[in-house]
Order: sequence, then structure tokens, then C-alpha cells
Amino acid sequence: MKKYKYIIIGSGIAGTTAAETIREKDKKGSLAILGNEKYPLYSRVLLPNYIKDIVPREKVFLRDENFYRQKNIDTFFGCEVKSIDTKNKIVFSENEYEFSYEKLLIASGGRVNKMQIEGIDDEDLCYFQTIDDADKIKEKMKNSKKALVLGSSFIALELAQAFSKNKMKVGMFIRGDRFWKNIFDQESSNILVDNLKKHDISLFFKEEIKKVKDKKAISKNGAEFEFDILGVGVGIKRNLEFAEKSGIKIKNGILADQYLKTNIDDIYSAGDVVEFYDVITEKYQMFGNWPAAFLQGKIAGLNMVGEKTVCRHVSGYNIISFGVNVSFLGDVTKDENTVVVKRGDPSTQEYSQLFLRDGKLVGATQINMNKEKGFLTMLIDKKIDLSGKIDKLKDSNFELKKLIIN
Ligand SMILES: Cc1cc2nc3c(=O)[nH]c(=O)nc-3n(C[C@H](O)[C@H](O)[C@H](O)COP(=O)(O)OP(=O)(O)OC[C@H]3O[C@@H](n4cnc5c(N)ncnc54)[C@H](O)[C@@H]3O)c2cc1C
Repeated sequence: MKKYKYIIIGSGIAGTTAAETIREKDKKGSLAILGNEKYPLYSRVLLPNYIKDIVPREKVFLRDENFYRQKNIDTFFGCEVKSIDTKNKIVFSENEYEFSYEKLLIASGGRVNKMQIEGIDDEDLCYFQTIDDADKIKEKMKNSKKALVLGSSFIALELAQAFSKNKMKVGMFIRGDRFWKNIFDQESSNILVDNLKKHDISLFFKEEIKKVKDKKAISKNGAEFEFDILGVGVGIKRNLEFAEKSGIKIKNGILADQYLKTNIDDIYSAGDVVEFYDVITEKYQMFGNWPAAFLQGKIAGLNMVGEKTVCRHVSGYNIISFGVNVSFLGDVTKDENTVVVKRGDPSTQEYSQLFLRDGKLVGATQINMNKEKGFLTMLIDKKIDLSGKIDKLKDSNFELKKLIIN
């Protein structure tokens, strides 16, 4: 059995940042990262630019093996964790390796939702989560002229954009009747739709793929689209099966408090896999973006070395889809207490929805209104009471910074 003071499951941005933070604070404590991918840290955020030939492959990597050696961090890449014995503090990986720990971080992220489609083999579907997926997409694009994308996620949009840049005819099958039905209103969705159409993307709403025949996708309602490459972007599921029988509380993700500590002493969680108590919105949240995973890795690392630190962060995800800048800020889930305030003018393609609860801003979607992102983030973070200010929020000529200063 290998013995470590700190074990980190997951070699992504959350796990790596936690390891680096621990090493800064505890120069001697033995520390290992276990990751089932073969590689040191690379940027998933750069993968779209890699498949578009904007960034070369080597620039996608953010660390090399030497880096970990210099920091005295042991790495076990290509090592899949299978289970955790939280009573005896042991992590079991495939091939029956055992790692004992004093403190453990679970930062195992997510994996793509896979689809089974009649008439096409799994290896002919292009998912987009890892650098291996990106390599495969690049290879397949070489001989492709027509591409179909399934889904309407950020990743689906990234795929559509990459295929289009490669001069392919692109179609998208989208299950709902608009983009992000639970988040976007019709006006927001229309801005994206109009812009995608301008870029010759064929959109098929309320359509799901039924089968593939002779390189032609046939939807449940009978729509047809011929393709050489089939991209899939239908969301992710969290990697937490190995923790299921460990006694660690799990809901949609690994449950953790505002210090990112789970219900079990000495076990923490960070990044896409954690469902943590967010002191800003006062509810459990899962974020799923790079800056949040970085920050959570840092905070988990601090807490693991005994520096008690609250995770307080307004989540933000941003994509530029064919020139249209879309941002989701904070909590964009709607419930019966959510008041949605519309700001801007959809006809100018500058438009936001502001989500308020109990008179306070909790989240926002923005289209081409990025210049207000900082102020909205502050309004959410500072929980400023905006009751009685709705008219000002609606008026895009009113400067939001006045609500923060006054
Ligand atoms: C193509 C793409 C583009 C993106 N673009 C953006 C963007 O523009 N902006 C943004 O904010 N976010 C973006 N994201 C999301 C962002 O990359 C993620 O939120 C972030 O990488 C999550 O980091 P993480 O460390 O929590 O998880 P991950 O990066 O998923 O790392 C977790 C690691 O743990 C490994 N693991 C899982 N299970 C086990 C196990 N049992 N044993 C060992 N190891 C295991 C996983 O394989 C993985 O290597 C993008 C994601 C993708 C895929």
C-alpha cells in the first residue's frame, strides 16, 4: 500500500490547483494525484480552438511531468479509482492498488452523456470532453463535408462552430423548441437562432435522432440530414460512482458544505463534481465551469491544510457563438419565487435577463452585454437589495454601477 498525507482524485484544473495550493502551504507533506486520463493538466477551454486550428496541440497543455516532479507531487496518470474505504482511509484503484490518505479530495469532474443510436457505432460518434476526443474530431474532419450536431449545449455550439469553420454544411438536431428552454426566454433564443441561420447552420428544433441509414440521420419526426461526421453535445454526468458506497453523501454531485468539506471528516470535493453550499444564494449549487473549478480547487486545498476558507464565488460561463457573446452568471435556475427582469433590446442583439429572488439579484443571462458583467457580478455577490429598483434594471441606459455605489 502507498501511504500519502494528501490524495487527490482527478487531475483536472480543480485537482491540480488543490495540489499546488497544498504544496505552497505544506512543503513536506506527501501528496499524490490519481487521474484516469493519461495526461498532465491540459485546458479543456482551449480544446475548441485546438480543433479549429487556432491553437496548436502542445499549447493546450498547461503542465508537464517535470512540473509535478519539481513540486514533489507524485502523479498516477491512467489510474482509475474504483472505491474508497472511508473508515480505514484507503482509496482503491483498478488493478487493486491501494493508497492510504490522511486527507482526500474528490475532484473527478464529469463525463459526457453517451448515446446509443441505431445504425451507427459508438466509435463513429464524436463527443467533446477530452483531448483524445479533440484528436479524433480533428482526424474525422479531414474527410468530412457535412456535419450533424446533436444537442444545444455550449459544447454542441462549439462543435457546430468548428465544423462550420472547416467549411462544412452543418445541421443541428435540438430536442427542445428553443435554446436552453429552462433558462432562455424566446427573445434570447431567437437572437442565437437568427445568427446561426445567418451562418448557414440548419436548425431542427423539437427533433431527436431516431436512427442512421446510409450516412443519413433520420429524426423521430422524419426530418433527414446527411452527414460525414456526427457530433454529440447532450450534457455531462458527474463521475461519482466510486464514492457511492463509501458513506459520502451524494445528491446530484458530491455534497459538501461552504468549506467544500463532505459529511466525512478529512474528505473534500471541488470542481464540476461538487454540489456545495453556496453562501451567496443560500442553496446547494453545481457550477461546471473552469474559473469555478480553479477557485474551488484553491479553497479545498486551503481547507485541507487547515486554513479554514469559505467558498464564495459568483459562477460565470461565457461562449462566443459565431460572434454572439453569451454569458450565464450566478444562479440561472428559475423557480416560483424568481422574478425575471428584461434589460436591453433583442432587436439590437443586446439583451439580458436578470433573475431576482426576494428583491436580490441571483443570476443573469447576457447576450452581447458583457460590459455589464462585472457590475452584475457585484450586485449578486453583495446581495444588494434591489426592491423598488426594477424600473432602473429594465432601463439599459441606466448605469448599473450607480446601484452599487449608492
Ligand atoms: C470542450 C470544452 C470546452 C469548455 N469551455 C469552457 C469555457 O469556455 N469556459 C468555462 O468556464 N468552462 C469551459 N468548459 C468546462 C470546464 O472545462 C470544466 O468546468 C472544468 O474543466 C472542470 O474541471 P474539473 O477539474 O472539475 O473536472 P475535469 O476537468 O473533468 O477533471 C476531472 C478529472 O478526473 C478524472 N476522473 C474521473 N473519474 C475518475 C476516477 N474514477 N479515477 C481517476 N480519475 C478520474 C477525469 O477523467 C478528469 O481527468 C469546457 C469544457 C469542455 C469539455
